[in-house]
Amino acid sequence: MTTGLVGSFVYLVGLCVGSFLNVVIYRLPRGLSVAEPRWSFCPCCRATLRWYDNIPVVSWVLLRGRCRYCGCAVSPQYPLVEALTGLGFVLVYHLLFVAQTRVLAVSGTGAVRLAPVLPTDAPLLLAWLILVAVLVACSAMDLVLYLVDTRVTDFAMVAGIVLCAAWPRPAFFRAAAGSPLAAGAAVAFVLSAWMLYRAWRREQRTPTDPADDDAGAVPSASSSGAGAGFAPVAVVVGGLVALAVWLLLANARPAGTASAGVGTTFLVFFVAMVLTGGQTRAVDDDLHATIEAEAPESRREALRELAWLLPALLGGGVAYALVATVPAVESGWRTVVAWSPTGSFEPIGGAVYAIYGAILAAAAGWAIRILFTLAFGREAFGVGDIYILAAAGAAAGPDIALIGFLFSIPVALAGWGLSLLLKRSAMIPFGPPLALGFLLTLWLNTAAAETLHAYATDVASAWERQPQIVLMGVGLLIVALPIAVLMANLVRRLVEPRE
Ligand SMILES: [Zn+2]
Repeated sequence: MTTGLVGSFVYLVGLCVGSFLNVVIYRLPRGLSVAEPRWSFCPCCRATLRWYDNIPVVSWVLLRGRCRYCGCAVSPQYPLVEALTGLGFVLVYHLLFVAQTRVLAVSGTGAVRLAPVLPTDAPLLLAWLILVAVLVACSAMDLVLYLVDTRVTDFAMVAGIVLCAAWPRPAFFRAAAGSPLAAGAAVAFVLSAWMLYRAWRREQRTPTDPADDDAGAVPSASSSGAGAGFAPVAVVVGGLVALAVWLLLANARPAGTASAGVGTTFLVFFVAMVLTGGQTRAVDDDLHATIEAEAPESRREALRELAWLLPALLGGGVAYALVATVPAVESGWRTVVAWSPTGSFEPIGGAVYAIYGAILAAAAGWAIRILFTLAFGREAFGVGDIYILAAAGAAAGPDIALIGFLFSIPVALAGWGLSLLLKRSAMIPFGPPLALGFLLTLWLNTAAAETLHAYATDVASAWERQPQIVLMGVGLLIVALPIAVLMANLVRRLVEPRE
């Protein structure tokens, strides 16, 4: 009863947040302020919309997708973003508080789950809701424009750090925050924040041509409605399914119904990703041409990025080594991390845990970006995706971000393969698959954590008894890698549109 009530409330909040996200998605890439003008306006005739034109999903359906004043078509993206945000909110609430899928710790006997309750675990819920909102906004921008606004992802990252510091459940993060890896991550975080600040200062001092910026890639407002023939049908069907899934979730008593509801929710997200991503856009060819034109420079650029990351890498490595090998440093680090003003809060430990998540996830993203760019000689895996990973690592934890990254790869390939039926494009926007990957990891947290734990135990015991087997495995991987690169290059040449 109460969970159903809270679920409904979370759903309604999600619809309203989705309505605000539409403003963010429209205004930020165009260099407009989110706060001014206060009220939403029609991009076509600039008329200020009244409150009754702004009711999430409902207004769009009542007005049959047209502006009340000029009759201009209103993109189905608006109700879609609202419905999906509501669905994402209720999904996260259901998984965390009703199904209780988040894992606290794994031991030899299996995974122990976190049993969150409100209001104690409100910071956990809030961090996840902010992450979902940011993932929806980034996915929409990535699908339509192939760009991710880092102000949006930074918001989720900072919120994740602050909320984790304010979360009165230190048992969740104490062990990880006190580890040498977390110490290394904290130092790497401070160093890279300082490097980013310096780069930002330098940019402030050298004025650039605003038309030369990313904003130049943004198509005009009128082009967004073009080629959206089947989208309205998808929205109506998607909205109805979303509502049904929500009802299933809110009232699910038998576990089987709940799983069916969760499974359907993921299907809705996946279908929305394929249909939206399958629409042909002017930016497709532009961006593809840019990547091809910059191809000869891409390997050198990847090495330059590696050099840029080196100070943070080295600083983090030194901190890691000190905490791992010098007992006095280790106990000092543990004391700092366990500092508590009241006994129930450990704010430094919480913040360090979130930072550890952000840095670990970003490092995985950088490794993939640099390795793939070096291997293919073309820019691979955008920097925006790395910012999404860092946000997820801070808001949801390092395990969710890393396993989610792993899950996102098959999701991206399946989605891209299906969208090839709609349009030929060699580019894969990675924002939506990442979002799906993180949510999937929350759902399958127990299975994922136990599998990883068993795998790690196996490798460790094999290393002790027969190290040659582990070395052989590593050797096989090293041989398999160039073969995989060759095959992927072959597929890319087959798929690529010919001039
Ligand atoms: Zn209008």
